[in-house]
This record gives sequence, structure tokens and C-alpha cells, in this order.
Amino acid sequence: MMRATELAQLLLGQSLAAGGWVVDATVGNGHDTMWLAERVGPTGRVFGFDVQAAALAVVAERVRGLKQVTLTHAGHERMAECLPLEAKGRLCGVMFNLGYLPGAAKDIITRTETTLKALQQAVDFLAVAGTVTVVVYPGHPGGAKEAEAVRAFARTRPEGFAASQHGRINTVGAAPELMVIERVR
Ligand code: SAH
Repeated sequence: MMRATELAQLLLGQSLAAGGWVVDATVGNGHDTMWLAERVGPTGRVFGFDVQAAALAVVAERVRGLKQVTLTHAGHERMAECLPLEAKGRLCGVMFNLGYLPGAAKDIITRTETTLKALQQAVDFLAVAGTVTVVVYPGHPGGAKEAEAVRAFARTRPEGFAASQHGRINTVGAAPELMVIERVR
């Protein structure tokens, strides 16, 4: 079965094209950042956010020469103030991979309150036919509450958005889940 993070790329990919503007709201090791940079190409823009300077420094090295990538050392809850004004209504994709970064400090973890603030901004900045993907980890400390809050947020989006969730159901314990919010008009 495809992992939630792979499924996120597959579904988000339908909203992406060369020249697109996108956000990686949780850069971490830069896996999604690199993938997004390739998908939107040199004429696109990728805006990455993370609160861990050390992780960003490693990714900055990996994306050296990719002019489309801009990394910002800030929480994703500050996305709206950090993005250029022209980004409003222009983002075709925003990716969140919540929880903590495997191999790094487990107490540097996304939190429900800031995640919800960031999600609201992501949705506000989305272009028509744009997609927000959120991979949630109910098994992480605080992760179940955060997953439930993201689900509630997605479920109560007003008209004009389509929200869905995807996750393995025959597991022991909590499996990662993918929440998807598309702007349909
Ligand atoms: N997409 C990454 C994995 C992300 S793990 C990859 O492919 O490697 C979650 C990341 O969220 C961690 O790097 C953590 O530092 C970051 N994070 C935690 N709180 C954050 C916040 N408020 N804003 C942005 N990033 C945050």
C-alpha cells in the first residue's frame, strides 16, 4: 500500500504544473520541497517553512542552484505575512507533513493551534483547483488531537471546497492519515 506521504504527492500532483506556486509548510529533510521544485520547475516558486534552522540549512545545501526555492525559518502559522503579496489566490499546492522529524528532537513537533492557523492561511491563499494536503500522525504525542482538529477543519470548509481523508484501516494502533482540501471554485 502507498504511504500517506506518497499518496499526498500523487493527489497534489494533479494540481501542479510548470510555473506553479506552491508551499511546503513543513520542510524537514526537504523530501517534499525537492519534489515540488522538480514539479513546478525553474519558472515556478516553492516557499518552504520550518522552525528548525539545522534542518533548513541541510535542505538549503540540497536545493542550491534551484532558484525557484525560497526557504524561510519561521513557523507555518506566519505563512501569510512571509509570502509575497502576489501569492494570494495563486498557490496551486500546499503540503503539510505534521508531527516531528524522524531522527531529530521529538519535542520539536507541530501543534494543533499553530497548525490550524496555518491551514486557514493556506486555504485563503489557494488558487481555484489548488490542493492542500495534510499528513497527520495520530500515534505521535498530541497527534490524535491534532488529527481530529485537522479533520474538523476540513469537514467544515464552506462551499467551494472539497475535503477528503485517506488512511489504512486494518492496522493495530494509529496509522498516518492524509487529509486533502481542494478548492473547486
Ligand atoms: N516533509 C518533511 C517531514 C516533516 S516532519 C520531510 O519530507 O522530511 C515535521 C516538520 O515540521 C519538522 O521538521 C518540524 O521542525 C516542523 N515544524 C514543527 N512545527 C512547525 C511550525 N510551526 N511551522 C513549520 N514547521 C514546523
